[in-house]
Amino acid sequence: MERGSCDSCGEVDCDDLLALHRLYVTPEAWDTDGSVTRVDEVERWCAACRANYPHEPAGAAS
Ligand SMILES: [Zn+2]
Repeated sequence: MERGSCDSCGEVDCDDLLALHRLYVTPEAWDTDGSVTRVDEVERWCAACRANYPHEPAGAAS
């Protein structure tokens, strides 16, 4: 765990940040398949953001 500010919501002085990659999830639609795009940049998120938004832990096998 790291201490600092959350890169997603901007909350400062978090003590439970985790390094991860943000995922952009595109829902399936009538004319397109759903897809998931992973952002290469590593961000650090607080627990609340990790609970609410899709992400992939940094360092995970791709
Ligand atoms: Zn946050």
